[in-house]
Amino acid sequence: MSFSSSVKKELIDFENSRIDDEINYTQCCTHAQQYGLLLFCRGFSVSGINMQTENESIAKMYAKTIEQITGQIQPIKCSAAGKYSVSVQGEKKRKKVIEHFGYTGSEITLRINRANLLDECCYSAFLRGAFLACGTITSPKKEYHLEFVATHFNLCKDLMKVMEDMDLLPKYVMRKGNHITYFKDSESIEDVLTHMGAIFSSLELMEIKIYKDVRNKVNRRTNFENANLTKTVDAAFTQMQAIELIKKEKGMSYFPEELRELAVLRLDNPELSLRELGQMLSVPLSRSGVNHRLKKIIQMADDLKNSEQEKGE
Ligand SMILES: [Zn+2]
Repeated sequence: MSFSSSVKKELIDFENSRIDDEINYTQCCTHAQQYGLLLFCRGFSVSGINMQTENESIAKMYAKTIEQITGQIQPIKCSAAGKYSVSVQGEKKRKKVIEHFGYTGSEITLRINRANLLDECCYSAFLRGAFLACGTITSPKKEYHLEFVATHFNLCKDLMKVMEDMDLLPKYVMRKGNHITYFKDSESIEDVLTHMGAIFSSLELMEIKIYKDVRNKVNRRTNFENANLTKTVDAAFTQMQAIELIKKEKGMSYFPEELRELAVLRLDNPELSLRELGQMLSVPLSRSGVNHRLKKIIQMADDLKNSEQEKGE
């Protein structure tokens, strides 16, 4: 499965579990999610409401939304090439769908109707729907890139404004007549994924980033013995992963004082050996002393992870 497909799968699971959650379920967000999904698929007007996708779950979600609005079962077609498509037949039915989201059908250009985003919570749901309709993300192993492809300029611009209101900073480019808003830096992409509800994908991206970072820095060390390379990278990776997790969840102040300086040094110098790290501390420490403290940090991160999991269950 491509990274894009696994993100979309996580978003669909997230949406379904949100709907099943009787206590925390919010109707406003379902409306916003459905709006994002319909608006950013291929057609959304009186003359055509339709979509095409390789992802069966997204086609089902789309058809179910149409069914909920019109009260009639919406068929899904599957081509020989394995593409799923949904097309709403009948002008009356299509009018009912666009009116559901506050359009009359006589609009000159298609814009985002913010009346469909009732509360702050709805922005994330709307973005999730839009990503399922027109988003892709490249595997972070290759490069950092997440984009939304819109067919109308105004729609793309409005989507960028919505994201700016969420403190995201999207960029714009035109490609093959399509209007694309995108992110290129790993931190923004992590934020977008987290906003939409793809928490595991966001963590996966963070881990890949750390691993790449460690490997690059170690590779740059010319005097390094190749035999030890993999072992060093793996060990440093585990340590950095633990430190990043604690930093992200609790902040650097969470580290007890005797561990904090070492944690900062390790993050800045993934390529250094334990002995070298020990020499850089304000009170120098032996190799085994450094090793002991790094193990403590890894234990702290494990404890954090376990307590999060218990909370989640
Ligand atoms: Zn909401």
